[in-house]
Amino acid sequence: MSKIALAIHGGAGTILRSRMTPALEAEYRSGLETALKTGWSALESGAAALDAVETTVRALEDFPLFNAGKGAVFTHEGEVELDAAIMDGSTKRAGGVTFVKNIRNPISLARLVMEQTEHALLAGEGANQFAEQMGVETAPDEYFFTEHRWLQLQEALAAGRVQLDHTGTPISDSNFQIERESRIWDLGSKPMGTVGAVACDVQGHLAAGTSTGGMTNKRFGRVGDSALIGAGTFADDVCAVSCTGHGEDFMLGVTAYDVAARMRYAGQSLKEAAQASIDQLTTIDGEGGLIAVDSEGNVTLPFNSEGMYRGFVDSGGNLTVQIYGV
Ligand code: ASP
Repeated sequence: MSKIALAIHGGAGTILRSRMTPALEAEYRSGLETALKTGWSALESGAAALDAVETTVRALEDFPLFNAGKGAVFTHEGEVELDAAIMDGSTKRAGGVTFVKNIRNPISLARLVMEQTEHALLAGEGANQFAEQMGVETAPDEYFFTEHRWLQLQEALAAGRVQLDHTGTPISDSNFQIERESRIWDLGSKPMGTVGAVACDVQGHLAAGTSTGGMTNKRFGRVGDSALIGAGTFADDVCAVSCTGHGEDFMLGVTAYDVAARMRYAGQSLKEAAQASIDQLTTIDGEGGLIAVDSEGNVTLPFNSEGMYRGFVDSGGNLTVQIYGV
């Protein structure tokens, strides 16, 4: 019997205590806690790491403040294009989708790609056709509309820039009445988003999953790291990793796989390997973070940005949720 473990993220970036309101912080914490509890109760009742990861990421996708599923950012054209990937470390099989539309929980579609096709990554219309064939739950455009994401797009369009998802977010829709002036993050900052989960089950099997709307104002079919196995998501029998940050940097760093390679070939511990991969990212001016777990149930959550929405449950069942850096 192995020690079960679970870690999650909801994005990394310029997340400063001084710019957070108590109401907003409480909302973020509750989103993270809900997801952790969902995944942990699955693991405790003997679920496979893969199932725990899927169910945890689904909870994060349904939470409107994170850039995945319901809370996804808008493209240049004002649409929502979603990417996700899941990997089962015990079989070393993976599935991903990119550029899909109107899929309520892309992580589950990614799992179907892994289990029901001979492919590892499906894109665009073809992926949506596959979703239809599989009877995957879809949602109308309105489901994905959140006012703060729409305002972000207007700001990004005005500034002529592609920006990460927490950037310039004057949240003013249903839950929060925050004045535009008291914006949570500056436009000049470089925060990131995306959600992910990694788990170790009672058998010591590992799994990782990541889901995102990508970057605000993205265009020309831009695809980030999240759905790319080895870049934003990876799991084998050594570790499971999910990344968040500026996707192009994680693609260049092949960051998720880099953690596993350091452990396998250089004999580094999970913590050393994950920190070294983030340090490596820093050398190419990459910014963000990752969550990782090994087959002994150790977890680590390093990042080089000011903060990262994150949480984990230790082997004693103690739940920790954190947002800021030290
Ligand atoms: N990595 C994601 C992407 O580049 C964005 C993020 O983590 O916020 O698509």
